[in-house]
Amino acid sequence: MSECLFCKIVKGDINLSKVMETENVLAFNDINPQAPVHVLVIPKVHISSITKVQKEHSALISDMMQVINEVAKKTGIVESGFRVVVNHGENAGQAVPHLHFHVLGGRKMTWPPG
Ligand code: 5GP
Ligand code: ZN
Repeated sequence: MSECLFCKIVKGDINLSKVMETENVLAFNDINPQAPVHVLVIPKVHISSITKVQKEHSALISDMMQVINEVAKKTGIVESGFRVVVNHGENAGQAVPHLHFHVLGGRKMTWPPG
C-alpha cells in the first residue's frame, strides 16, 4: 500500500499540518479546505473505504469518533456547529481511497449538500 497518499502521510513521507494524533488515528488539515475548519480524520491502518469497515475495526472507529470530538473542541466549532462527511465512490466524489472523515465547520453550511 506504499502508493496510497494517506498511508504516505501516516509514514511521514508527505508534509502535513497535524491537528492531533493518537496511537491509531491521525487528524490533519485538508490541503484544499472547503470551510474555515476542514480537518481530515484517518485511521493509521489502510482501509480503502467505509464499505471495507469490518467488525474487527469497532474499537478503531470508536477512537475515530473520539478524535472527531477532540478536533471539534480544539478548533472551537462545537458551539457553532460542524459537519462530518465520508465520501464513498464516484457519485460522492471520493478522491483518496483511504478511509477519512471530513470535519467541517466555522461557517454556515447548506443542507442538503450539493
Ligand atoms: P475525498 O474527496 O476523497 O473525500 O477527500 C480527499 C480530501 O483529501 C480532499 O478534501 C483533498 O483536498 C484532500 N487532500 C488530497 N491530497 C492531500 C494532501 O496531500 N494533503 C492534505 N492535507 N489533504 C489532501
Ligand atoms: Zn492508505
